Amino acid sequence: MTQLILTPGLLRQHPLPVPEEGSKEARGSAFVIGGSASVPGAALLAGVAALRAGAGKLKIATVQSAAAGMGLMVPEAMVVGLPEAPDGGVDAPRAADDLLRMAGGCGAVLVGPGMIGDEPTTSLTVRLLGAEGSPSFVLDAAAVCGLADHAENVKASGQRAVITPHAGEMAQLLDRSRDAIEADPLDAARAAADLLGTVVVMKGATTWIVDPRGGHWLYEGGGVGLATSGSGDVLAGLVVGLLARGIDPIAAALWGVFLHGEAGRRLSSTIGPIGFLAREIAGVVPGLMRETM
Ligand code: AMP
Ligand code: MG
Repeated sequence: MTQLILTPGLLRQHPLPVPEEGSKEARGSAFVIGGSASVPGAALLAGVAALRAGAGKLKIATVQSAAAGMGLMVPEAMVVGLPEAPDGGVDAPRAADDLLRMAGGCGAVLVGPGMIGDEPTTSLTVRLLGAEGSPSFVLDAAAVCGLADHAENVKASGQRAVITPHAGEMAQLLDRSRDAIEADPLDAARAAADLLGTVVVMKGATTWIVDPRGGHWLYEGGGVGLATSGSGDVLAGLVVGLLARGIDPIAAALWGVFLHGEAGRRLSSTIGPIGFLAREIAGVVPGLMRETM
């Protein structure tokens, strides 16, 4: 199995579509499902990142209590309010039919940022993976932790999905300790890729990207400032935006991890090694994309 360090040269083997070509429809529609009453901003961070990665259109579905504010914070997006459970999370059983219908019309769907409740989020995620119209998926946070119980269903749609767990989420997915994941993150990422058949982005100071068909890559350049609240939501948003543009899941994962990390490096030098905000990461990405292409 090859192991490769992510570099601009390697990324150019997976070229992005030329931006001058086509309409906003041609650059694809990203759909972000996320947020809860206590963490409404995660879906916002991810949605903005999807647009910064070049997606042509953005739809966000979040809990009803956050939807109006979200629409004003991201005026570029179409925002849909979802039924809310007593704990402030998405009432997944009641929201599922509408979400399935909306997901089918989008190029790429992100599920999970800021969502609470692993079990209802997992059930919703597994239903969405069967959406008609074959969108691509990014699964993050609460949408990842419980997937082992549905591994066969996930596998059936696996080549179109990317999962983006950090060590704690990977520990829940594989039912291993966090220490065991951190001791050998590549082994964990391979195990998850085998189990689910998805592309795996195992996040950390070093991020591993594993292709379920074989092959893995690593990136370790982002800088400690990326270890900040909301940073992973931005990464998931970049990947869903890239998927919406029509590149395959491995290319979207490689580009997303690299752009997120290089944006962290850039902010480290312009703002400082720590203290930049997750909301500042995505704004650096369009220029980095132009430099890297
Ligand atoms: P999350 O924990 O979901 O917010 O994701 C955190 C993001 O920051 C991931 O993309 C990690 O790879 C990245 N990250 C976390 N810690 C570090 C670090 N020490 N150096 C570089 N990147 C990091
Ligand atoms: Mg996260």
